[in-house]
Amino acid sequence: MLNDLKQYAKDHNVPIICDDGLLFLKKTIKDYQIKSVLEIGTAIGYSAIFMALEGCHVTTFERNKTMIELAKKHIEPYQNQIELIAEDALLFDGNLGMFDMIFIDAAKAQYQKFFEKYTPYLKQGGIVVCDNLSFHHLDIQKVSRSTRQLIQKLERFKTYLETHPDYQTTFYDVGDGMSITKRVE
Ligand code: SAH
Ligand code: MG
Repeated sequence: MLNDLKQYAKDHNVPIICDDGLLFLKKTIKDYQIKSVLEIGTAIGYSAIFMALEGCHVTTFERNKTMIELAKKHIEPYQNQIELIAEDALLFDGNLGMFDMIFIDAAKAQYQKFFEKYTPYLKQGGIVVCDNLSFHHLDIQKVSRSTRQLIQKLERFKTYLETHPDYQTTFYDVGDGMSITKRVE
């Protein structure tokens, strides 16, 4: 099942989480005894299904029509564990529960906005995990202007996390760069 989705993603250039990233999520879910996850960026449902199989309840946001249709189909068998919110996470103004973990894996330019909007939904002791913080380790001198701006934006977000007085962040050299942020209690 997950392997079929992985192949689909590969064939259609859908940027799903890498194998190392999945292992990292698995370990994080175990270490922090994560039961409920808010995911930003469902794509075809690959990471959401993985976390459901690890025993989590996952609420996940997706804004792209094509992805929404695919994700709906894929998460069908997991409907009591995965709730898809087919909306732009930055425009959503409905009700949400509280979560043990927020997994940010959507538009890179918006990470700080996701963080600021959704950390109020973090339970005490909860964590924020981010994916794709290093942008494929690209050389900033050799990329287009728009890519450079995106890299700089991610760098500003990393600094924001590092210097935030209420949070403590550790960065991991997994995949494209992942992080775990904890609230200083
Ligand atoms: N988490 C997935 C991959 C997500 S790819 C996995 O590893 O399997 C990123 C997805 O985020 C894309 O499908 C994109 O459409 C979605 N996205 C980007 N910005 C968003 C936003 N503001 N709200 C909801 N979805 C968003
Ligand atoms: Mg990702």
